[in-house]
Amino acid sequence: MRITILGSGGGVGIPNMFCQCANCEAARAAGGRSLRNGPAVLINDDLLVDCGPDVVNSVRQLGLNLSSVQTLAITHRHGDHLDPWFFWARRGVRDTELPLLTVYAPQDVLDEVFSFYQSHLQLDRKSFESLTRTIWRPVHAGMMKLAGAYRLNFFPATHGEGLLEAVLVGVSDARAAYFHCYDTGPLSEDAWAMLSGHRFDVAALDACIGLQDDYESAEHMTGPQTVAHAHRMRETGILKPGGAALATHFVHQAAGRHEDLVAYYEPQGLTVAYDGLVLMPGE
Ligand SMILES: [Zn+2]
Ligand SMILES: [Zn+2]
Ligand SMILES: [Zn+2]
Repeated sequence: MRITILGSGGGVGIPNMFCQCANCEAARAAGGRSLRNGPAVLINDDLLVDCGPDVVNSVRQLGLNLSSVQTLAITHRHGDHLDPWFFWARRGVRDTELPLLTVYAPQDVLDEVFSFYQSHLQLDRKSFESLTRTIWRPVHAGMMKLAGAYRLNFFPATHGEGLLEAVLVGVSDARAAYFHCYDTGPLSEDAWAMLSGHRFDVAALDACIGLQDDYESAEHMTGPQTVAHAHRMRETGILKPGGAALATHFVHQAAGRHEDLVAYYEPQGLTVAYDGLVLMPGE
């Protein structure tokens, strides 16, 4: 399984284009891995997790294309994870055998996308699906779906303050398994119970709050919470021996230079994600 981190930032990425805080300035000066697009992950060349507005930039910068993607899982409808315009680019392709794209997402994501196309382009669901060659399937935490060579497992995220439905997703193929574990605050005991018995090679963990001491939220994780989740996953076998725990979804309020994040997370057994990071578990 090839796992490509398309974007390791959260929200508007790093730096924030309107911001001159010390973290944004440090990231600008450092460049390279300190510059972070908004979140998305590509599995092999045919499965994508999330489709926010930065995916277009990440794909371009990394010299990739998404013409083979057949499965898309959308975790929730926050703007860094879902850009309704993402699908419109599928209309204009030429000389390309674009496969049908099956989209798995919470029902409120479907509602938002369909109403967007209804209000902007007067397209009903059927016309939208046909024009963009997409099929939409609602999912909830606790569901399992078979999608081509993949098994998708959906788990409850601690995220959205009851205003939206958010899921975490496990992606398994014959070789390896990836756990997409952000955006979320500390996992509920229900989530841990549902995870027991799963065995992942890579877990990408929410590291949004980091070491900010003036930000209270149960919607994301602090640095110590991210580290504690990685340890618990290793101890319980949810993360296989030798598996990789990634810290990701960094925001400028908490993160500046990549090397400073490495200095905090890596001695505690986590790998700091960056845009373009490729992991090859099971290969
Ligand atoms: Zn996010
Ligand atoms: Zn800033
Ligand atoms: Zn979110």
